[in-house]
Amino acid sequence: MRAMVVRAPGEAEALQLEDVPLPTLRDNDVRIRVEACGVCFHDVVTRNGVLRRGVRMPLIPGHEVSGIVESVGPRVRAFKPGDRVCTTQRRYICGFCRFCRSSRETSCETREFLGDADLNGGYAEYVSVSDDNVAHVPPGVDLAQAAIVSCAVGTELNAIRDVAQVRPGERVLISGAGGGLGVHGLQLARGAGARVFAVTTSPSKADSLRQWGAHEVVVCGRGEDFSAQIKELTNGEGVDVVIDNVGSVLFEPTRRSLAMGGRWIFVGQLTGDFVRLNPAQLFLRDITIRSVISTSRNQLQDALALVQQGMVKPVITGELPLEEAAQAHRLMEGGQALGRMLLRPGLRAAA
Ligand code: ZN
Ligand code: ZN
Ligand code: ZN
Repeated sequence: MRAMVVRAPGEAEALQLEDVPLPTLRDNDVRIRVEACGVCFHDVVTRNGVLRRGVRMPLIPGHEVSGIVESVGPRVRAFKPGDRVCTTQRRYICGFCRFCRSSRETSCETREFLGDADLNGGYAEYVSVSDDNVAHVPPGVDLAQAAIVSCAVGTELNAIRDVAQVRPGERVLISGAGGGLGVHGLQLARGAGARVFAVTTSPSKADSLRQWGAHEVVVCGRGEDFSAQIKELTNGEGVDVVIDNVGSVLFEPTRRSLAMGGRWIFVGQLTGDFVRLNPAQLFLRDITIRSVISTSRNQLQDALALVQQGMVKPVITGELPLEEAAQAHRLMEGGQALGRMLLRPGLRAAA
């Protein structure tokens, strides 16, 4: 099959088209003919070597997959060839550890992130994923949209609904609001009845961020302190919840934007940078820090239902043939795109 392979860490050009064997089909595996694969910042930090945990090269990146079931292993019961499906971010969970048994499979001790190893990932014509990590795509949701539901919608659903437990009337700040996660966070926070504050580096995105659910948009340069603006918009109090899709570069302004008793949910980290932290600045203001790493299959199914009902619309910036994965990475690193880029193995590259 055709696949984009990374053999050693590097710039976008490290992604090279190769002909590789079909991924193996284990007893509980569903092998999917890929219709679309979302391009995630995770793929960038895997490719360039910043993320090392669980990463083994050579690899085929990509964990935001939708497609049609091609074949199933002998122990699979819930899926059959021809089914329309999409995946969580994982290739494997054990199914019996304490985390798997309590809807916290995103912390399974032996989980394998899809695309981080074994030449099995979504930037390819086929991918193999164990049935625990696959969901049926409901009628009315198209496959291209379904590809990004687990990561771009489900992760924010996990953060906003399940971890932050946002209530109507609370003030919620979404950082990286124009990115693939943020633009869905805006919709979910709005749907939860929050007053929604979007922080973005792109002035050109401000109008669309309002359309996607932001009540207020704060534009600031990369790493700039936006907290004075947030304070001004909140009677000097700050926000109750931050959905932090950015990480270290905005650590200090984010901390200053939190109201007394604020909940700070870590979702994204765009660089490998460390931060300086004085614990007293957190506990004197009763700040809680929690984190979200990905999406359980239950959360994926809930997110698909929200899409089916029209509560959330997956925001897709554009799509490229598989061969142009490097270009997709450059666009993503440039921060130009609103929402998610898709790779489509079925599209042919321009000659
Ligand atoms: Zn992702
Ligand atoms: Zn990741
Ligand atoms: Zn487990």
